[in-house]
Amino acid sequence: MTDIWMDALAGLRPRLGAETYELWLRPMVMVATAPGVIRLRAPSLFMKEWFENHYREAVLQEIFSRTQERFSIEVDVAPDVAHASDAAPPVVPADVPMLPVSRPSSAPLGLSERYRFGTFIKGASNELAASAAHAVAEEPGKRFNPLFIYGGVGLGKTHLLHAVGHALHHHRPELRIVYLSAERFMNEFISAVRFNACDQFRKRYREDCDVLLVDDIQFIAGRDRTMDEFFHVFNALYESGKQIMVTADRTPSDMQGMEERITSRLNWGLVADIKPPDLETRVAILRQKAEDERINIANDVAVYLATLVRSNVRELEGALVRVSTFAALKGVTITQEFVREVIGDTAAPRHSTQLTVEAIQKAVAGYFSVRITDLKGARRHKGIARPRMIAMFLSRELTGSSYPEIGLRFGGKDHSTVINACKRMIEIQITDPELRSIIESLRHQLVGHPT
Ligand code: ADP
Ligand code: MG
Repeated sequence: MTDIWMDALAGLRPRLGAETYELWLRPMVMVATAPGVIRLRAPSLFMKEWFENHYREAVLQEIFSRTQERFSIEVDVAPDVAHASDAAPPVVPADVPMLPVSRPSSAPLGLSERYRFGTFIKGASNELAASAAHAVAEEPGKRFNPLFIYGGVGLGKTHLLHAVGHALHHHRPELRIVYLSAERFMNEFISAVRFNACDQFRKRYREDCDVLLVDDIQFIAGRDRTMDEFFHVFNALYESGKQIMVTADRTPSDMQGMEERITSRLNWGLVADIKPPDLETRVAILRQKAEDERINIANDVAVYLATLVRSNVRELEGALVRVSTFAALKGVTITQEFVREVIGDTAAPRHSTQLTVEAIQKAVAGYFSVRITDLKGARRHKGIARPRMIAMFLSRELTGSSYPEIGLRFGGKDHSTVINACKRMIEIQITDPELRSIIESLRHQLVGHPT
């Protein structure tokens, strides 16, 4: 049976490229198969998630094209050697194919172990949502009911939902907490209808439930019977003062196909958004993940990575894993240079290729009302030195030119001058919101999108 897996990998390799193959597929080990199921083991949780998000589909298609059989893939995570340093390191039996896999079933209620308040970094972008979630966890059914959290993909909505579940489960063990995705709600409802089990379904969600946590409610929009059922569940719980918390990818009113009587109810409590995190928050998230995963990354490198990956936390975490895996494979330390090499092209495609150092100098000179010749000159007066460093930093970030090349274009300065300028700018941005917003608005002006 190992052959299925090995053959599929061999088939995918030319398509995905040797590098992707080495980084993301080769570390996945097949540990067992059951009819229709292939069980894999990933070296870390991040590898598991990355595989599932990026390659699972491709692998399944490849297998199907070879065998004409539909499989599903289940991935578990290798026992973590690094975290259990006192115990004898568990050996991952990479070459024992039929090992029965005992899946960790620790998480009660189907909540992910990692998604707790303790691991959620607060920042301006998620402050309201996070505070409201805390309030709900402290006083369910009292202050914000329902609590509705919305925002783009990978910004922490599911994380907060689980965190509320964990906290309530811990402080109020008597409460019956029900967590599920809207999709599962629908599927369960459909089978309940089919198997004449609607009474049980209703009992479970309307009576045997003190806290209802529903993820991605937008899923049921346009599904009439499921919406109707949800409406009644909502009313039953709400009327008896039970807490309801819901997430979605947009506001209640923006969900097309959602019945008005549902959207209006979702608006009854607090509607809180999560936005993409700012630089400071992204850095804090990276630092935490690095620590959790025992990844060695210097502060300035973490900041640099956070300036490259701006849109969402999931991508940010993925980028960190990718960089650290690659560094481990190559046996090198993670430097800014290395980060750019590994993720630069994928993370920064929005950066215009035509953008030149000269265009950046012009924009910065205009912004600060200084002359371009001063930016290129040697005067160290603060009114000049600061704009010069900003221009160097942006040149590095937005054009990807090398340090020596940038030095050359700034009047023939040494590359170490450019390196120092970039480092300073990164450090100062962390603590100085004013500089941060200047840089962000220049960046916006130059590449036409906010950070
Ligand atoms: P969403 O449900 O909004 O699509 P998730 O809750 O699944 O996003 O978050 C994606 C990943 O990013 C998860 O691994 C989550 O732990 C992490 N994450 C998101 N926001 C934060 C945060 N503020 N602090 C720590 N980790 C975060
Ligand atoms: Mg989610």
